[in-house]
Amino acid sequence: MAADSTEGSLKQRGVRLTRQRQILLELIDRTGAHLDVEQLYRMAKERDPKINRVTVYRTLNMLKAGGLVDELDLMHYGGDQHYYETRLKQEHAHVICLRCGRVEEFFGEPLQRLRKQIESHFGFQVMVARTEVGGYCAHCQTLRAREIEAMRPPVKAAPRARRAPARTE
Ligand SMILES: [Zn+2]
Ligand SMILES: [Zn+2]
Repeated sequence: MAADSTEGSLKQRGVRLTRQRQILLELIDRTGAHLDVEQLYRMAKERDPKINRVTVYRTLNMLKAGGLVDELDLMHYGGDQHYYETRLKQEHAHVICLRCGRVEEFFGEPLQRLRKQIESHFGFQVMVARTEVGGYCAHCQTLRAREIEAMRPPVKAAPRARRAPARTE
């Protein structure tokens, strides 16, 4: 039994894994992606047609409560839905493109440093830290620049210098 796997941690806590729970755990653990409930449900259903949404919700709640899975909203890019990922991954920030929804993960020492600084500054014990950064990916920056350009009203000719009305003689 691998102690560093979610499944291992659950067994240590005495949580019984039904086959359906196991399927969900594997999906979250192995895809490495940020899946919402619907995606998880659809993927799980491919493996076990009898699985239902209630099981998916219950399992996610159980995993959240056990601190094994993190629930993310990813800047609410996709609306109200939440996304799930395993807590076993090294701490990382989520960098979300607000246009195409692409999610990058930033791993790095600055995050650990920030955590330590917060701990020493407030005498706080950090249990969970979530960093989300929203913006535009390189591709979308190009597209946006074009869109903005297209939306701009056509450039009017510079107003002519007003001439004094021609005198009629
Ligand atoms: Zn983008
Ligand atoms: Zn992530």
